[in-house]
Amino acid sequence: MKKRVAVIGAGPSGLAQLRAFQSAAQKGAEIPEVVCFEKQSNWGGLWNYTWRTGLDENGEPVHCSMYRYLWTNGPKEGLEFADYSFEEHFGKQIASYPPRAVMFDYIEGRVERAGVRDWIRFSTVVRNVEYEMETGDFTVTVHDLAADHVYKERFDHVIVASGHFSTPNVPEYEGFSTFNGRIIHAHDFRDAREFAGKDVLVMGSSYSAEDIGSQCWKYGAKSVTSCYRSAPMGFNWPDNWEEKPALEKLAGKTAIFSDGTEKDVDAIILCTGYKHYFPFLPDDLRLKTANRLAAADLYKGVVWVHNPKLFYLGMQDQWFTFNMFDAQAWYVRDIIMDRIEVPADKQALMADVREREEREDAGETQKYAIKYQGDYVKELIAETDYPSFDVDGACEAFYEWKAHKAEDIMGFRNHSYRSVITGTMAPAHHTPWKLALDDSMAAYLQN
Ligand SMILES: Cc1cc2nc3c(=O)[nH]c(=O)nc-3n(C[C@H](O)[C@H](O)[C@H](O)COP(=O)(O)OP(=O)(O)OC[C@H]3O[C@@H](n4cnc5c(N)ncnc54)[C@H](O)[C@@H]3O)c2cc1C
Repeated sequence: MKKRVAVIGAGPSGLAQLRAFQSAAQKGAEIPEVVCFEKQSNWGGLWNYTWRTGLDENGEPVHCSMYRYLWTNGPKEGLEFADYSFEEHFGKQIASYPPRAVMFDYIEGRVERAGVRDWIRFSTVVRNVEYEMETGDFTVTVHDLAADHVYKERFDHVIVASGHFSTPNVPEYEGFSTFNGRIIHAHDFRDAREFAGKDVLVMGSSYSAEDIGSQCWKYGAKSVTSCYRSAPMGFNWPDNWEEKPALEKLAGKTAIFSDGTEKDVDAIILCTGYKHYFPFLPDDLRLKTANRLAAADLYKGVVWVHNPKLFYLGMQDQWFTFNMFDAQAWYVRDIIMDRIEVPADKQALMADVREREEREDAGETQKYAIKYQGDYVKELIAETDYPSFDVDGACEAFYEWKAHKAEDIMGFRNHSYRSVITGTMAPAHHTPWKLALDDSMAAYLQN
């Protein structure tokens, strides 16, 4: 009997897993039966944009946290697939910070060519996963939303690739319930034009705050105020952008900050992060981790230490993305195909997790964190046949990107970097980011 493998989610991580198995099959190996369950009607995960917020057409929570006009927030040279370059996909080298639609096209290109769409059951949400000791396998309960049919199937392995930037963390502050403007979480932010001419308060100091604030600025907000709990972002902001310490409360439309200063605002966007949320998993299988580079309880960052037949992909905080998901997917594939052995001793698995946590905690700089994750990618790809690539070169692109942001936060996307896959330098984009208001693929790719 062939092994059966369930993959939960057809975002970049789940698709990496399908491509990993397909590439083994292409080389003549006998692969397990792989079934991917995806609750949306299309693949791409967060990159599969929808205007919807709240609930989707089936009454399920909307997965998408992306917005119109989103361009990658890091250079594409840091995430390029080692087995499918941008040049191969687009037939030419393209500029370094593609908008979402361009990225979606790239993600889709690789899996279309691999021919794995038939492995995915779309509009099918996983409701429950249970492990049975006696049989040593999992029972997965799913809801086919199109047919409105609930059914169960058994699998030898389950791979959770359901993402962790979709369930918002939503704090409440005094004065919120009587505020007359809009209060939304970043998860529900879709179109910066809504905030043109407005005084916007962006709460948070991570990527969402930086990028959503920048979007609002670019599309005509009157002013942007951002506030932080731990540390300011500290960029050279434009004149109409001010950073404040933590919000204490609202009094009417007046935001009052912990240093006693005030600002009247029309709208509030909560860039207060996301939760790892797995409502379909019981306690003994459910990952509980902070958003960090060394995720809790995952041997080699992917194997669930409490039941090594269960895997998680992409659960770390992310500098590297697509190529890290690939590294993980190839590694998990090889465990399932008995090419890589996982130690039988649980203590050894936990020791691996502890070592990763301690090593992460030993450094504080962003450069350290980038290198740490680069080393992790190298560690995994050294053990599989994933095409090796210049990971240090990708780290260099990230270091340069950080320096470009420090120089000019509204201009860093005008820079170009060299591909570590093809060695080609990306061309400069035809229009500076702050003037490029059309985020369509056609506009981006025109010469
Ligand atoms: C606003 C924003 C901007 C970002 N920008 C960038 C960027 O510029 N560059 C970059 O590299 N990364 C970026 N990221 C990071 C992003 O996490 C990754 O690029 C990538 O999408 C993660 O892939 P994933 O497959 O792990 O998760 P996701 O993309 O979240 O995909 C998970 C999939 O699982 C499905 N799913 C969830 N639950 C179930 C269930 N119960 N049953 C069935 N299916 C389920 C979802 O529908 C979804 O399709 C950004 C993230 C956000 C939120």
